[in-house]
Amino acid sequence: MPEGHTIHRLARDCRERFGGRKVRAASPQGKFADGAALIDGQVLSGAQAHGKHLFLGFDGTGWVHVHLGLYGKFTFGTGPAPAPVGQVRLRLVGDGEDGGGVYADLRGPTRCELITEDEKQAVEDRLGPDPLRADADPEAAWARVSRSRTTIAALLMDQKVVAGVGNVYRAEVLFRHGIDPYRPGRGLSRTEWDAIWDDLVGLMHEGVRDNRIDTVRPQHEPEAMGRAPRVDDHGGEVYVYRRAGMPCHVCGEPVRTAGLAARNLFWCAACQPG
Ligand SMILES: [Zn+2]
Repeated sequence: MPEGHTIHRLARDCRERFGGRKVRAASPQGKFADGAALIDGQVLSGAQAHGKHLFLGFDGTGWVHVHLGLYGKFTFGTGPAPAPVGQVRLRLVGDGEDGGGVYADLRGPTRCELITEDEKQAVEDRLGPDPLRADADPEAAWARVSRSRTTIAALLMDQKVVAGVGNVYRAEVLFRHGIDPYRPGRGLSRTEWDAIWDDLVGLMHEGVRDNRIDTVRPQHEPEAMGRAPRVDDHGGEVYVYRRAGMPCHVCGEPVRTAGLAARNLFWCAACQPG
């Protein structure tokens, strides 16, 4: 599932391509035909992300609320839009900055619906603070974490606690701070939480910028360690994510894995002692 940096990047892509201009909207697949008809010909006035939720604003009409879920994907193109391929839930077509045409196709989302400002607010009220948003309040997350007997690994994946963190960022941030993923939230010190939050803010902003997740410190980069770069369709350099059984970049112990909160957890038992 895409993590928050992907959704913030999508919001930025939609703003750059369509923002402030009229767009043509359609649902070639038909499942969003009514909503698409209502925004067709309207100006896309804003695009926002909160955690894994994307909101496309159309003044006076409302917001298109998109959640990609596990399989959803946006693709962008320039020039005249070709005939739709596959199950396109929403197609947006605009003139583009140079008038040459831009389009975006949304396929396979868990959610694509037209909602009101109040409904958008209700969605956001259910979400925890998002490290990628300037208005995020880390106090709200600390209030939940510090009272909870749930493991910090599960809390970090709970979108009501922190919005936008997924399986990669949770594993990596816990490794970077030497925290046992099974430690209960209320076992964390305020200093530890503040360090985790600040690190998420930095790492996730880099993720938006680079469009991939890199979490290793300079001294653990492949060149610095004289090791081969990571080979994984996921991309960037990481410490533990999907490295089960491979040697830890810091201590050499094999990285461990186990199921937690319905997803595979990865950690180094030596660097993250219980
Ligand atoms: Zn280690």
